[in-house]
Amino acid sequence: AQVPVNVTVTGAAGQIGYALLFRIASGQLLGPDTPVKLRLLEIPQAVKAAEGTAMELDDCAFPLLKGIDIFDDARQAFDGVNIALLVGARPRTKGMERGDLLEANGGIFKPQGEAINAGAADDVRVLVVGNPANTNALIAQAHAPDVPAERFTAMTRLDHNRALTQLAKKLGVDVTEIKKMTIWGNHSATQYPDIFHAEVNGTTGAKAVNDEAWVRDEFIPTVAKRGAAIIEARGASSAASAANAAIDHVYDWVNGTPEGDWTSAAIPSDGSYGVPEGLISSFPVVSRGGRWEIVPDLEIDAFSRERIDASVQELSEEREAVRKLGLL
Ligand code: NDP
Repeated sequence: AQVPVNVTVTGAAGQIGYALLFRIASGQLLGPDTPVKLRLLEIPQAVKAAEGTAMELDDCAFPLLKGIDIFDDARQAFDGVNIALLVGARPRTKGMERGDLLEANGGIFKPQGEAINAGAADDVRVLVVGNPANTNALIAQAHAPDVPAERFTAMTRLDHNRALTQLAKKLGVDVTEIKKMTIWGNHSATQYPDIFHAEVNGTTGAKAVNDEAWVRDEFIPTVAKRGAAIIEARGASSAASAANAAIDHVYDWVNGTPEGDWTSAAIPSDGSYGVPEGLISSFPVVSRGGRWEIVPDLEIDAFSRERIDASVQELSEEREAVRKLGLL
């Protein structure tokens, strides 16, 4: 029998965790032939709730689920980890400045990076979901010097999926008819969803829409502010869709992206597209042989350049802020 893959999920008792764990255990993260062991990390106050979720996981009798362990200690939770899903984070609360937020998250992601460095399996892959995700990933990466830098990624797949559906609805086509959508930059309101390279039945997304005002005034803000719209409608932040995107990201990372298409993920920049090296920024990416590769040589017009630069600028400022806090 195949050796189970160790999947560590932090913030396991939270609402994204609740939506995520059942899908991992059912085989949707790694495929129907791969057994998994879950390692759940929570803060001490939330361990009991995580135990409740573990009871429910037991009650599903998932054939692929080979064990669940619950920890309040990062060293233990990341011991032997193959796939790390860093979901738990310190949310921004009223009156909190960005520096405070970054500092609070440094207190979470620095020790988690150290724990990954100390105990993770050689093939470890890390996806950060907890916000500010890109910079949290950078902090964890900085404290895991023995792990290849490229193994630290942050999630922009939910933004990508949101953009696919908004464009499909506008054009009255099925989401499967749209290829090569791109999210650039930070997973924040400055992100830039780019339809200029998207393909829709033989033309580009931009040509199919043929309405720059819609792209600028409707599409981009709708995608970028979708999280707030969900909170407004549901009275709670998006959870199932965020979990779904985390599943998509890891599945594609492990299994590869389909020929003739690409996806979006925040990965360490190699300097492509004017994004300073090392920033964990969203790019158009393909996954080949278990690695993300940035899609090269796309033409970037002035409309896109301005928006990519603005989001990347925000990432540079976040990096500067965590440097000043001594977190890098
Ligand atoms: P959620 O499960 O709803 O969200 C978790 C994180 O995901 C937040 O940082 C949230 O950011 C982020 N996120 C990223 N993308 C999205 C998206 N599209 N929609 C919604 N959220 C998104 O939070 P809960 O409060 O329900 O649960 C968090 C859990 O984490 C708690 O159980 C807490 O105890 C735990 N925790 C664990 C830690 C650890 O294991 N060491 C450390 C800190 C917390 P945003 O806030 O910006 O929405």
